[in-house]
Parts: sequence; structure tokens; C-alpha cells
Amino acid sequence: MSLKFDVVVAGAGTAGAYASYLLARAGLRVALLEARAGDQIGVKVCGDALGAHHVERMSRYLTPNPRAFKSKIAGVELVSPDESARLVIRGEGYMLDRAAWGSWLVGEAVRAGAELYEGYIAAAPTVSGSSVAGVEAVKKREGTRVELRARVVVDATGLGGALRTKLAGWPVSEPLSPEDVSHAYREILSVDGPVERPEYIKIFLNAEVAPGGYWWLFPYDSSTVNVGLGVWGISGVNPVERFRQRVLPRLRVRARIHAGGGVVPTRRPLKSLVGGGFVAVGDAAAAANPLHGGGIGQALLSAELSSRVIIRAFETGDFSERALWEYNVLYMREWGHRQAQLDVMRLMLQTLSNDDLNYGLSRRVLGEGDILDVSSRGVSPSLVEKLRAALQLLGRPSLLLKLLAAAQYASRIGELYMEYPESSAGLEPWHARVASAYEEYRRKIGLEPRGA
Ligand SMILES: Cc1cc2nc3c(=O)[nH]c(=O)nc-3n(C[C@H](O)[C@H](O)[C@H](O)COP(=O)(O)OP(=O)(O)OC[C@H]3O[C@@H](n4cnc5c(N)ncnc54)[C@H](O)[C@@H]3O)c2cc1C
Repeated sequence: MSLKFDVVVAGAGTAGAYASYLLARAGLRVALLEARAGDQIGVKVCGDALGAHHVERMSRYLTPNPRAFKSKIAGVELVSPDESARLVIRGEGYMLDRAAWGSWLVGEAVRAGAELYEGYIAAAPTVSGSSVAGVEAVKKREGTRVELRARVVVDATGLGGALRTKLAGWPVSEPLSPEDVSHAYREILSVDGPVERPEYIKIFLNAEVAPGGYWWLFPYDSSTVNVGLGVWGISGVNPVERFRQRVLPRLRVRARIHAGGGVVPTRRPLKSLVGGGFVAVGDAAAAANPLHGGGIGQALLSAELSSRVIIRAFETGDFSERALWEYNVLYMREWGHRQAQLDVMRLMLQTLSNDDLNYGLSRRVLGEGDILDVSSRGVSPSLVEKLRAALQLLGRPSLLLKLLAAAQYASRIGELYMEYPESSAGLEPWHARVASAYEEYRRKIGLEPRGA
């Protein structure tokens, strides 16, 4: 059987559902394929925290449903390994009711006119010449195959990138290495409270408990919490075991409401998010924030930017890689350059010992304002200057030199991303410059070379 649409979106998580909503409301005929079915649609193992600025931006297109929000966040408490230093970074956000959020978004896509194919696995893209021409899908229970043809296919299948990874030889198929991901596990628990200051989500840095990552305690209220742990993909640590050994014993658990794990992309942007008739969004585009692994906001943003470009492609009738390239450029200017900067900072943080972290947080080498600046606006020249000055005044030059190198390379690599090429012709030379800056940086902070 073969069906024809304007756009096929594979994956009905945040990115796919929101893209489907935006495309359908623009009058396009959209098929939304989702491997899950029934009340499992929209369910996602997650920390459930979302910055308010993402919700505000989304409100330009879709009024959020209050039922999707469990509580308000006032900020983040960043805790040192010895727990003597606690930085309070203000910034509003929400704890989501993740299942309600997910099913609401899919419902909005369907209400806007998208046709939901639940229980369908997007197995492979169908390619005609230099463009993707549709998706080969398999109905899960029956094994029946369907071909859904479309002018544009959106891969929103999450970290696995079920479609993009099958476009061998296309820049968008760039594989993720174990270094590019974090393995996370979390439980939603009812605890014998009260949890202190429940309006603050808490991030605990500790290289021994969560190597290359952190453990978190995000309260929904004073007695219900989302507690989890994420470790770097190359750490060799099993996050479930580590959670049970080191995090769970700290809590007085009354009841376990839900438990589960997942993998998060924590890297710089893929070198391209498009191909002929094809775009990748959300985790499938490795769009999450590499510093903390938050990716709901980036799922929304990438869906918004790509939808804008897809709608324009329908106006001009050009669905080539050249036409869709604008999504790459918008993405890199809006978020990709900061994503790359944060990735540079992430790599440095992953090399720090607990001793360094204790020192850095207790001396406020980077204070609350600096951290807020870096995460919301990126690395500024004034930060580089501040670190240079600190080098003269504070002890621990090895740590400060690493921090300084990170800030300098973050600034330089961020600029490179702002120079992202306007067409695919410039991609390889540009990417060679990025790869060489990264290799130089890795050497500076004592990491092995990685190759392009
Ligand atoms: C433990 C954990 C904690 C996290 N905490 C936070 C947090 O607090 N805040 C935050 O912002 N982010 C957090 N994240 C990251 C965030 O959840 C993701 O970045 C975000 O959900 C990505 O959305 P997405 O739509 O791209 O992908 P997903 O939500 O993964 O959606 C992909 C969808 O595609 C479907 N699918 C997969 N393969 C196929 C296929 N072949 N065919 C059809 N359908 C398919 C899946 O069933 C799923 O519905 C966390 C992640 C984890 C694992």
C-alpha cells in the first residue's frame, strides 16, 4: 500500500508532534508516524524540567495547556561534590506532567489536521535520486508494510535517528560516538518530606558518583521528586547501579511512582540537519543542551525552525537540499553556535576532579551570574577576561588554565558556527576548520584526539 502526503513526520515526541502541529496548521497534509500506541504515546522518561523561555516562545504559536505543568521552578541550585558550596542560579521554569505534555502536543497536531499513524515503525527512508521521497513503515503488530510518500520527511525519532542514520554518505547521517551521549536513569518518588525549597531544582556535581555528568533532584512539590543520574557515555558506569548505590540511600522513599532510563545526546550540532526532501529535529538532530542534557526546549525550537523552512519550500515548490539548507543556517545562528560553545565547556567539566569542582564552586571562580550568562547567552569576551584576571589572583593554576582554555575555545568555536556556510558547497572546508579547532582544544585540556 502506498499513501501520499505533503510531509511525513516520524516520531511523535515533543519535536515530531510540535512540527506536525505547525505544518498541519499551515495547511499541509501531514502524516505523523509513531511506534507507540494508545496511552503510551507522549510518555517519555525525562527529568521533566523545562525553562520558561521555551514555553514563552512556543506560546507565539500554541497556547500551552495548564494541565501539562505540575509546578513552577524558581531556579537551579548547583551543589559542589562536598556539598559545602551551593550556587543558586535564578531562572524560571516548569516541572512538567510529562505524559500530559506529550499527549496534549500530539492531540494538538491531530486537531490541526495531522493524521496520526500509531503503532507504526518508520523503518527506512525511501530515496529517489538525491532526495528522500517517503518512508517505509511497518505496522507493529501485523508486520504489514506501508509506503508513505511525501515531498519532505522529518526525522523526529529521538536519539536513534531511525531515518537519518540510514542515509549513508549524506552529511546528515553523521554517526554519534559514545563520547557524544550521556546515559541516564531516573525515578519518580514519593518521599518523606519535606524537600527543602521545592521551587529550586537541584543539580549535584560529583565526578565519583556521576562521572562526566551529575545527579539531580527535581521536586514536583515538597514530597514528590524526580531523582536521577546521568553519566558520560564513555565512563563505563551503569547509571542504574550507581543510582541505587549512591543516590537512593540518601532518600526516605515512601513509594516509587515510576522508574526508567534513557540516552541523551550531549554534543555539538551535527554538521548538517538536512538532505534533499529531509530534515532532522530534536534528539534525532542531537539538538539537546550538551552541558545538562535538557532537550525539550531544543526539540521545540528545531521543530519551529525546520517547519518555517518546510512551509517556505512548499511556497516555492523546491524541496532540494539547497532549499532546505536554510534550516541549518537558522539553527546554527539561533542555537547551534551556543550549543557548540556549551559543548566545549562540557568537555572541560568532564575532565575535572571533585577537588577541582569543590575549589571552583566554593571560590565562585564562575559565579551565579557567569553561569546564567553562559547558559543563556553563551561565552562572552568579558568571561575570558575575568578568567585571565583570576589566574593572577587565585591558586590552582591548572584548573584556571583549563577554564580559560575552555572559554577561549568556546568563543572561537562559537564564532565558527556563526560562519556556518550558506550552502552545502562550503560544508566540508568549514567542518575541517571546526574539527581542527576541536582537536587543538582537546590537546589543551588533556583529552585524546578524536578525529573528525
Ligand atoms: C533520563 C532523562 C532525563 C531528561 N531530563 C530532561 C529534562 O529535565 N529537561 C529537558 O529539557 N530534557 C530532558 N531530557 C531530554 C529530553 O527528554 C529530550 O531531549 C526530548 O524529549 C527530545 O524530544 P524528541 O521529540 O526529539 O525525542 P523523543 O521524546 O525521544 O521522541 C521520539 C519519538 O519517536 C518515537 N520513535 C522512535 N523510533 C521510531 C520509529 N522508528 N518509528 C516511529 N516512531 C519512532 C518514540 O516512540 C518517541 O515517541 C532527559 C532525557 C532523559 C533520557
